[in-house]
Amino acid sequence: MAPPLQPQGSCGPWEMRERLGTGGFGNVLRWQNQESGEEIAIKQCRQELSPRNRERWCLEIQIMKRLNHPNVVAARDVPEGMQNLALNDLPLLAMEYCQGGDLRRHLNQLENCCGLRERAILILLSDIASALRYLHENRIIHRDLKPENIVLQQGKERLIHKIIDLGYAKELDQGSLCTSFVGTLQYLAPELLEQQKYTVTVDYWSFGTLAFECITGFRPFLPSWQPVQWHAKVRQKSELDIVVYEDLSGEVKFSSKLPHPNNLNCVLAERLEKWLQLMLQWHARQRGTDPTYGPNGCFKALDDILNLKLVHILDMVTGTVHVYPLAEDETLQSVKAKIQADTGIPEQDQELLQEGGLALISEKPAIQYLADIKLNDATVADTGLFFLFDNRKVTYRPQISPRPHPESINSILQDPKKNLSFLQLRKVWGQVWHTIRRLNEDFHQLQHGQRAAMRNLLRHNSTLSKMKNTMASLSQQLKAKLDFFRASIQIDLEKYNEQTEFGITSEKLLLAWKEMEQTVELCGREEEVEQLVKKTMALQTDIVDLQRIPQGPKQGSSLDALPKD
Ligand code: ATP
Ligand code: MG
Repeated sequence: MAPPLQPQGSCGPWEMRERLGTGGFGNVLRWQNQESGEEIAIKQCRQELSPRNRERWCLEIQIMKRLNHPNVVAARDVPEGMQNLALNDLPLLAMEYCQGGDLRRHLNQLENCCGLRERAILILLSDIASALRYLHENRIIHRDLKPENIVLQQGKERLIHKIIDLGYAKELDQGSLCTSFVGTLQYLAPELLEQQKYTVTVDYWSFGTLAFECITGFRPFLPSWQPVQWHAKVRQKSELDIVVYEDLSGEVKFSSKLPHPNNLNCVLAERLEKWLQLMLQWHARQRGTDPTYGPNGCFKALDDILNLKLVHILDMVTGTVHVYPLAEDETLQSVKAKIQADTGIPEQDQELLQEGGLALISEKPAIQYLADIKLNDATVADTGLFFLFDNRKVTYRPQISPRPHPESINSILQDPKKNLSFLQLRKVWGQVWHTIRRLNEDFHQLQHGQRAAMRNLLRHNSTLSKMKNTMASLSQQLKAKLDFFRASIQIDLEKYNEQTEFGITSEKLLLAWKEMEQTVELCGREEEVEQLVKKTMALQTDIVDLQRIPQGPKQGSSLDALPKD
């Protein structure tokens, strides 16, 4: 057998840099062009293949060259002369290089131990669905979709997922099962394991399994079981079950619910749970059939989920986040009605603030408040969060209800000395870490709410100060006019008194003047104005004090520096 390409070498301007991966058949290496800086991934077959597999290898390279989709890795021309270096007559496959590594590497990171972040999940689902749709439209079934066969590339605005390893293990005869599928049977649809006839729905199973793992951090069906026992057990699941797991006592449990913890909001969790029920149907014929869109309707059902516009309302009284899907023409009034139903705060007493402290006003359609949430926009992670205050309250006593702990944490708390296997321990510790991170994030969100309230207060205060200044100056002007008026009426009265000595009197005139004098006295509400000015001054001191109140650890504190490894 010819020796495989060594991870050292050069070919014209091209230098071999590193080995990116090794799979059942091939080695993948990164090469860089020293003149242009361009990088490519070169895959070569590292073993002799049977004539049938050789034919397949070549065919797949042809297919790769034909395909053109942003979420399928693109083929490139093999640099001149490189084929000769292979010392192997099987053609090399040159591909665009994806610097983000494969999805398995991401899933293995501690911070993803209980699933990826919500936004990362949505992007992944959108990319992989798009790639699968494209492949299926081109009559290609991938058959080996798994995290190792998805690579990531940093796009202009966000990470892009690309499917690789197209169909090298296309035909699932006994031989290829033994070579390329050892250890990765977990993503294979049951009919492939049973060597039955199959259709595109095998990719639905793999996609569902992969999506579940990205959401929760673990594979849905008895991840550590051997194929024979696995098959016997998992086939007992009901149509709606999307997870089969062993609890801490070793008992096998079935569930149709998406397990906690995960990073999805309640609306997305509920919708994706239903979607996973379509994708993880044991029976190939029903798999992917949506009640509304019919057979293979799972892609359209997913589109509906990905296109949801959601508004998040953090209730500052209880610390609960309420999530509402918004219709195109939904008014803020109707959102407020829903909030009233959920929180009991009457619509007119709800104060909804944006992060900057601006209040939401009812004239605008609610949807305008959401930055148009496009998956392509990398900055939208937390848009659509508003803070809800209850205007009837003057003080906020802590009524925060923390999230319930995951089942496994409760069980450990009840019986701290329980003996657990390594795998169980790893899972529980992961959940503990995730729970602490979650608490920390909840705390920061509440702090943001507090800051929004402070900004709102400062806004009101500055308007108030302006009004106070105008009032004080108007009052001064008025005072001056009144003083002048008083002085002149005084003179007039004196003159009148002088005239009465000569017998010239006018009771009517005198009465009118007296009345005027009285009105003037009533007008001079100087004291009240002074009181108000004093009060606003006192308010300034209060506000300065408020701003000084310790708000707990600032961002960048020790809590933010939770160990990640
Ligand atoms: P097979 O399953 O047919 O034996 P394989 O698993 O040997 O194929 P690939 O899945 O194509 O080969 O690649 C192996 C690993 O190399 C991937 O899991 C990934 O980590 C890395 N890799 C492959 N292609 C690229 C690429 N274009 N850019 C970056 N990394 C890649
Ligand atoms: Mg692979």
